[in-house]
Amino acid sequence: MITVEKFVFNPFQENTYILYDETKECIIIDPGCMDRHECSEMTVFIAARELKPVRLIYTHCHVDHVPGNNFICETYGLTPEFHEAGLSFFKDAPRHGHIYGFNLADPIMPENFISHGDMIAFGNSQLKAVYTPGHVDGHLCFICEEQHFVITGDVLFKDSIGRTDFPTGDFDKLMQSIHNHLFTLEDDYKVYCGHGPETSIGYEKVNNPFIKF
Ligand SMILES: [Zn+2]
Ligand SMILES: [Zn+2]
Repeated sequence: MITVEKFVFNPFQENTYILYDETKECIIIDPGCMDRHECSEMTVFIAARELKPVRLIYTHCHVDHVPGNNFICETYGLTPEFHEAGLSFFKDAPRHGHIYGFNLADPIMPENFISHGDMIAFGNSQLKAVYTPGHVDGHLCFICEEQHFVITGDVLFKDSIGRTDFPTGDFDKLMQSIHNHLFTLEDDYKVYCGHGPETSIGYEKVNNPFIKF
């Protein structure tokens, strides 16, 4: 049984998630922790529950989702995993972060990538990765079929959708990603977003004002 813990980090109020199960293995998704205080919030939580981080995975590589990369890699001996199409954004994060006043070192690089349909396994649990471009190339969502929840990154938010005005953003692709991979899930799926509160697939199908049918 997976437990999902949410942290809200950095000036962009980005949601970082730790997912763990009864084996105490955990995965970290989108490490937005930036300063010492935010980083220690993560390590204190992990230590208090005696969790063992086994994977560091990304929905996408925008600068607000990556600042904790090196800290998490160095603290837990991990390398980042994301979709290969996100590589240029990942490499570019320090330069891009500079625009916002972030001071990021060159990132520790991935050793393998996640593809559409891959299963992300940890402990007794697994998530299915689905490729969902439109907000940015290389974007993945992670679906837990067993417990009916999905991590949507910056594709779908409560009453909103991801911006499409960044490089490689494309509104039509975003709509396709939502219709083909998220709105095909059952209504009771809980949605954990990259920013803001949780929602559900059923709620967004009825109420989301940005989605065209
Ligand atoms: Zn983003
Ligand atoms: Zn974001």
